[in-house]
Amino acid sequence: MKILEMPKLNAEDVYTEIKTNSKNTENIDKRDRLENLETLVFKRYKEYEMINVSLELISESTISDKMDKEALGSCYNRNKSGYLEGEVVSTILSIQSAQHKNSCPYCGIDKPRTIDHYLPKSVFPEFSIFPPNLIPCCGRCNTKKNDRWLENGQRLFLNFYYDSIPNVRFLTSKLVYSLDEENQIPTVVFELIKHSEIQPKQYDLIERHFNKLELLEEYSEVIEEELSNIHDLVIHNETLSIEDHRENLRMQARMFARKYGVNYWKACLYDAVINCDEFFKRIC
Ligand SMILES: [Zn+2]
Repeated sequence: MKILEMPKLNAEDVYTEIKTNSKNTENIDKRDRLENLETLVFKRYKEYEMINVSLELISESTISDKMDKEALGSCYNRNKSGYLEGEVVSTILSIQSAQHKNSCPYCGIDKPRTIDHYLPKSVFPEFSIFPPNLIPCCGRCNTKKNDRWLENGQRLFLNFYYDSIPNVRFLTSKLVYSLDEENQIPTVVFELIKHSEIQPKQYDLIERHFNKLELLEEYSEVIEEELSNIHDLVIHNETLSIEDHRENLRMQARMFARKYGVNYWKACLYDAVINCDEFFKRIC
C-alpha cells in the first residue's frame, strides 16, 4: 500500500470548463445552475483542501435542491457535452506510477479501472468533479465502498492522497496445513497487527479500511495462483537447498515491498512461506 500521486489539475479551471461547455436543455438548466453554484462550490473546494487529512470534520453539504444536485452530479457523467470528465479521469490515471496503474490502492489486487468519489457524490454533489476527491480504484472496492465513508464521526477508508501509510508491517499472514500430510495446499490466513510505531488512531483507520472492504478474506481467496507459482518454483529447482529457496523468495518479497509497500499482500504471503518450515517439509 502506497500513497497516490495527487492530480495537478486546477480544480476551479476544471469546473469552469465543464460549466462553459454545458448547455441548458428542456430537462435541466445545467449551465445556469453551475453558474449560480460556482461561488459556493469553490468555497467548498477550499474547505476540502484545508481539512485534507481530517475530512471527517468537513461540514455537511448545503446543496439540497434536487436539480442543483443533478447538475453537479452530471459534471461527472459521460455524455456528449461532458468530454472533460474523461479528460480529468485519464489525467488522474496517467500520472500514477506503473505500480498504481496496475494495482488498486485500496486493495492491491485488481487493476484500478474505475474512479471512487472519496466523499460520495450523492452526499457531496459539489465534489463530483473535484480532482482530489477522485481516487482511481478497482471495481470491487468501488462497489464495496459504495456511498459509505463515515461512521460515528470516523472515516471508514484510507485516503490515498492525504493519509500517510506506515512503512512498517501491519499486515501479516501464516500458512495453515491440514493434518493430512499428503495435502500440500495450505490455507493462508491474513491478520492485522498493531505495530508499536503506528499511532492508535491511524491503526484504527487501517483496521476499518480492511474490515469494510473485507480485504483479509479477499486475500485468502486470491493467493491461490501466487502460492502455486511459489510451489512450482521450489519443486522445479530441486538442486537448490531449502535455504537457497528461502533466499530466492526473500529477494522476491523485498522486490514486492519496494514496489508496492511492505504491506502488499504478496510480500506478506512470500514472508509467510519463508517462515513456514512445514511448507518446505511437505514439498521438498
Ligand atoms: Zn481494489
